[in-house]
Amino acid sequence: MRTKLTLSPLLLALAVLSAFTVGSLSSRHLPSIAAAAAAAPAPQAPAPPATDGKLRIIIFGAHPDDPEYRGAGVAMKWASLGHHVKLVSATNGDIGHWGQAGGPLAIRRANEVKEVARRLGVTNEVLDIHDGEIMPTLENRRTVTRLIREWNADLVITNRPNDYHPDHRYTSILVQDSAFMVTVPFFAPDVKPLAKNPVFLYTSDRFQRPNPFRADIAVAIDDVMERTLDALLVMESQVHEGGANGDASLFPATEPGRQQRRDQVRKSLAARYAGYANNYRAALAEFYGQPRAGQVRYAQAFEICEYGRQPNKDELKRLFPFFDR
Ligand SMILES: [Zn+2]
Repeated sequence: MRTKLTLSPLLLALAVLSAFTVGSLSSRHLPSIAAAAAAAPAPQAPAPPATDGKLRIIIFGAHPDDPEYRGAGVAMKWASLGHHVKLVSATNGDIGHWGQAGGPLAIRRANEVKEVARRLGVTNEVLDIHDGEIMPTLENRRTVTRLIREWNADLVITNRPNDYHPDHRYTSILVQDSAFMVTVPFFAPDVKPLAKNPVFLYTSDRFQRPNPFRADIAVAIDDVMERTLDALLVMESQVHEGGANGDASLFPATEPGRQQRRDQVRKSLAARYAGYANNYRAALAEFYGQPRAGQVRYAQAFEICEYGRQPNKDELKRLFPFFDR
């Protein structure tokens, strides 16, 4: 099921009004029903044209904050060059908080990531699947396959399937399960199959079993780090309030306490990407050479998935057009 949850209160009011109009007109006024339906807000922004020569990247995560963290830095770098990036949360995040849950939390988180996307200059979508409950079903495989096709993706990014959270694991499995099916004409035939299989990449993680993450490519994000942190810090329910494992003391009501927390989470988020630069310095050197790689402060690294198109180094440089800048 794919219902977009990023409706602002105003759009929501318009949607309710449109639904009421359609419902109250009934079959006696068919032409008006069509007109009312046409006036309803579009379910999502139309995909930019596939023929503008720009790259098309889709990044999947399980919850409304995962694709944002996983695409941090690179999403903004692509967007600033005019490439098309979409962040997809596979669940609506409706249990991802210690003190609130359900519809209000899903709407709150949808609004948070919508604002993050706006600041990064990218598109986003939140699927209406309950947090903690996503399964690698046929229905969800079709949904993920359709999303990749609709975006006409050159590059698909997600986390690896070895992960502490079941939603993370199954989101990754669903992307893996789509890696071939996106090219198969009679699977989900309502959306045109991709003529060219995208490259699929995994984001970095700390998990060691059954095999540790391997950095096939690493990208410096120093130039966009501060603006990316500004965007990520919009996700107050997760970053400041601590999400599912937080508590009321983390983000107190008083302004000095709040500022202290803002400073603290900004520092710890920056440290995460600084850690990647240190851990994957060898991959940075592969693409930037020395001594430039040694000067990188913040980075993101990716591993090539064995499914999907297998890129060589030249193609990776084409997909990440950042190294000569
Ligand atoms: Zn998550």
